[in-house]
Amino acid sequence: MSRIRPDLFVIAAASVVLIFHPALSSGQGNRDENSRLDSKCLAFLSAGTVDGKVRLTCFKSTPFFEATRKEEPNSVRLRVRRMELPDFRFGRDYAEYFDGLPWRDADVIFEGAIPALNNRKYEFTDDNVRPAQTYAYWVATDREETPTGPVAVRVRDPRVWWSWEEIERRLNDLVARFPDVVEARVVGRTVHGRVLRALIAGRRDRVLVLVGSVHAGESGPELIIPAFEQVLQEHGTLLKNVGFAILPCVNADQRERLARGYPPYLRTNSSGVDLNRNFAAGWETVDYNYGLITTDPDGMTYRGPAPASEPETAAVMRALEGLTPAAVLSYHHLASITGSTFLYPKAASADSDYAARCRELNRVYRAAMTPEDLKEKPVAAAAGCTGGSLPAWIYDNFNVPACDVEGDRSAICVRSALDTATWDDLKQCQERHARAIVALLTAMGEER
Ligand SMILES: [Zn+2]
Repeated sequence: MSRIRPDLFVIAAASVVLIFHPALSSGQGNRDENSRLDSKCLAFLSAGTVDGKVRLTCFKSTPFFEATRKEEPNSVRLRVRRMELPDFRFGRDYAEYFDGLPWRDADVIFEGAIPALNNRKYEFTDDNVRPAQTYAYWVATDREETPTGPVAVRVRDPRVWWSWEEIERRLNDLVARFPDVVEARVVGRTVHGRVLRALIAGRRDRVLVLVGSVHAGESGPELIIPAFEQVLQEHGTLLKNVGFAILPCVNADQRERLARGYPPYLRTNSSGVDLNRNFAAGWETVDYNYGLITTDPDGMTYRGPAPASEPETAAVMRALEGLTPAAVLSYHHLASITGSTFLYPKAASADSDYAARCRELNRVYRAAMTPEDLKEKPVAAAAGCTGGSLPAWIYDNFNVPACDVEGDRSAICVRSALDTATWDDLKQCQERHARAIVALLTAMGEER
């Protein structure tokens, strides 16, 4: 013991020297000044993408702001460091991936004075970035060694991940172009107040309903809106026999975070509730999938404090209660693309008539979407949706086929699961899903 303690003392003394070493503490007088300058200079570092560029913002910390109050706005020099993270995997890696990254190994991409807005806020734009790449950033002032950070951002192709603005623009465009056919119905708001609208066309008494992005980091708007557009443009006559309604982006707040560059997969809404566990169906069953528990508020599958507690859930319910759905598909799988695997409610696994109707829905969808896979596997539908899911709620309340649309083993789905699918991948999938939806509407129209 006695041999170790002197060593520890040396280490402790060295740290003290380091802490008080920086030049900023010299000549500033009293103890108070020293303890102030001991603090971080920068705070609230954040990053996001705007028009394919990375925008960083941060503020002087309160002690640093006070210490530099009398200086000129551009008296402080900043150093921005950046590290490319090609091994970051969407859907596998989460926020902890960025903890403890070695900032000394990062490239210095900027050094210089940036005028502080109102002598407090800094903004920096990095336009030398590549799509489908993840970056970590650190920022330091010339008064300190250890930078603030990292903050991480993923540069997503805006053609593959549509922003909320883009989704709204496209919905408005459809309403404007087909004013006599399309009804836009406000069905609710998100936690952050985004207005959720369903677009409805055709008959109201027998409606195919497509719901997107109940899980934020999963597919929806990029497949559903183009399919709706294609039906209006090229298959309007189908709508005499059947209705078609879309609610393309339910978990809009969290999805927008992803579109703006938040790197890891997001599942819950911004209150931390898994919307596909929040519907008032099978609430008495607790689900233990993925090693998570639906009653655990810390878990990604948390069902929420009460059935339909979330405004997004209530919006989906309102959309459906205002229609007579004949079938409901809810798009899942990761990023913007899904496959043609259907999951129907576990609660219906003993209901052979209902299961048969879901399987038939899937057969029609697959036959049109991936005819090349048909011989190998004509139907890919299984009981899988848990209590609290949208399909479980539809089953209980409408008894019409309702399925989550999930990915498959195709190369495109594998890429999309890692958020590396390209615009060409998306275009191909838009065409396939549109074909499948036209086939479904045709079959549903003929059934009458
Ligand atoms: Zn999902």
